[in-house]
Amino acid sequence: MTGSPAARPAVFSVPPYVGGESHLNGVSRVIKLSSNEGAFGPPPGAIAALQTVASKIHRYPDGGAVELRNAIGRHFDLDPARIVCGNGSDDLISLLIQSYGGPGTELVMSRHGFLIYEIAARLAGMEVRKAAERDLTADIDAMLAEVTPATRLVFLANPNNPTGTLVPSAEIVRLRRQLPSHVLLVLDAAYAEYVEDGDYDPGVGLVDASENTVMTRTFSKIFGLGGLRLGWAYAAPAIIDVLNRTRMPFNVSGPAAAAGIAALAEQGWVQRSRSHNTRARAELSARIQRAGFHVWPSSANFLLADMETTDRAAAADLHLRNRGIIVRRVAAYGLPQCLRITIGTDDECAAAADALDEFGRQHA
Ligand SMILES: *Cc1c(COP(=O)(O)O)cnc(C)c1O
Repeated sequence: MTGSPAARPAVFSVPPYVGGESHLNGVSRVIKLSSNEGAFGPPPGAIAALQTVASKIHRYPDGGAVELRNAIGRHFDLDPARIVCGNGSDDLISLLIQSYGGPGTELVMSRHGFLIYEIAARLAGMEVRKAAERDLTADIDAMLAEVTPATRLVFLANPNNPTGTLVPSAEIVRLRRQLPSHVLLVLDAAYAEYVEDGDYDPGVGLVDASENTVMTRTFSKIFGLGGLRLGWAYAAPAIIDVLNRTRMPFNVSGPAAAAGIAALAEQGWVQRSRSHNTRARAELSARIQRAGFHVWPSSANFLLADMETTDRAAAADLHLRNRGIIVRRVAAYGLPQCLRITIGTDDECAAAADALDEFGRQHA
């Protein structure tokens, strides 16, 4: 009476996602710069809101997340009826792929695009086509060249993770214009709040102007709520209807919704986080370059440092770990020679810069 049930073969077609590490053996005070969580922890108002709802966690949440959607709508000046919330934006990414993709269809992304797209697409039985990049930046013509009659979804994170690079808004408008109208374009703007480029549009303009574009956003980065799992999508009513049919009825917990509403209301949080990020990112980038390593230009809350070889990236990673600093190896993204370093507090950035400086002198 034994024997193990067989899962669908697609389940084994991708290596499981490995998140940023948070522990080092024998180190008590770890500096975690591996998961692009905001530099300042959770907003104080969100902590207070969680304490307030703690006595009510026996209640099921509002399945429609009405208050949260209204708060998002007010904050970003969007129609709440065109918003769906999710258990992180990963939830919504996966639902879009399950709903619009499936066996026999294809998803297009850029060469070093966000890995969750590939994982979710393969699980759904899809083929993934990756377009070449230019200077680690998505190349719109190369992406268009990967489109075939089987293409159902095109995913673009802007700014992208793990490269940090930004595609100009005009190029994204051109991508939408040149894609067949039945292809869904998903613009993942997880790092939108960090972008200072005055020309930047996270996707609102295209969603408003078309029926076939989705913008996804998250509370995991600048809003500091990664542990609660909260994201949202903005799209035309027909797409919202599809997401509301495919999501699980209680995919956003009550505490997550309460903390999200409070995070949006935290006065000055986004501005303070963004200006810290812009300054600290420039300082850290300059210091890493002075230490002798190339750093890619970033519009997000992390930097991609190029150590030139896989061995040197591994040695630098070990050197950092020995000093209690955890950054991200990005070999799974096809960048084994690079390290992705999240912008933390000034002290955390200085510790990372000091360690890389020392590493550079030892390995000159
Ligand atoms: C961090 C990140 C997300 C956010 O994921 P959540 O599930 O909302 O935590 C989405 N896309 C990209 C590109 C990211 O880097």
